[in-house]
Amino acid sequence: MSSIKTVTLPDGTLVPALGQGTWYMGDDKHREQEEITTLQRGIELGLTLIDTAEMYGNGRSELLIGKAIKGLRDKLFLVSKVYPHNAGGRNLVNSCEASLKRLGTDYLDLYLLHWRGQIPYEETVRGMEALIQAGKIKRWGVSNLDDEDMQDLLSVRGGSKCAVNQVLYHLGSRGIEYELLPWQRQHGIPTMAYCPLAQAGALQGDLTADSAVKQVAQEHGVDPYQILLAWCIRHDDIIAIPKASSVAHVESNANAANIVLTAAQRDLLDQAFPAPDYPVPLDIV
Ligand code: NDP
Repeated sequence: MSSIKTVTLPDGTLVPALGQGTWYMGDDKHREQEEITTLQRGIELGLTLIDTAEMYGNGRSELLIGKAIKGLRDKLFLVSKVYPHNAGGRNLVNSCEASLKRLGTDYLDLYLLHWRGQIPYEETVRGMEALIQAGKIKRWGVSNLDDEDMQDLLSVRGGSKCAVNQVLYHLGSRGIEYELLPWQRQHGIPTMAYCPLAQAGALQGDLTADSAVKQVAQEHGVDPYQILLAWCIRHDDIIAIPKASSVAHVESNANAANIVLTAAQRDLLDQAFPAPDYPVPLDIV
């Protein structure tokens, strides 16, 4: 396994700064073998953090991962997410156990509340802590929470044990840099960036067509998509989880992990895609 840049979680655990997203994977039987091979190649290259959710394909993403990781569990950091309406009481236990079964494992490394719902944080935190006690998860975190949501979470008993917040973040969507990211830094909570490639043009136009991105890519002799990833993980508390469903893509992504942008290159990208200097609502998909 190659060694790639890491991020330290609040409990001291090291995880790779680049992982593998899996939304929409497992949906198409004809692509199953290619997707499995891709995930396995990513693991071989050090992308050992794999992100999924009970929501993805109604469990199909977790089932696919389960097939891909047979015999590899010990190398991995598995992340799954619970629907907000399942994030408390018996439903939380049932959801977690169903995810474990689909993944073919007996514990998750990280279990996330997918987004804020109606169940009070107190109940979700209590349930997550009970899952830790039962050995079903190692730690828990949240996703799609803005700074006010995070403050609410940390105001409840045990809320400060939150290990990460997973939010949308890419070069074309930098709203979290205004308030959320500094707040999380202050509280020692790393960020997991989803859609780090802006879904390859589906979200924000084609970021890789931008002349600044192209120039930086040329200077490094790499593909512009790799610059998007290198930019995303330029700080030591951000983990990005690009989704790739071909070996060529996952190899390219893994190779982005150790690209270090110079100050001049960061400035160029900042000019092309400035971070807002005013509050903006949390971007979501
Ligand atoms: P990404 O920004 O990761 O983009 C995925 C797209 O980029 C796919 O079309 C993929 O194509 C393409 N791609 C991947 N690598 C390359 C490459 N090297 N060159 C060119 N194109 C490439 O979008 P996602 O929405 O998938 O986000 C990443 C992950 O984050 C998800 O899969 C999921 O795990 C998580 N997520 C979490 C959310 C939440 O609410 N917590 C919401 C959304 C995502 P191909 O598949 O053909 O390789």
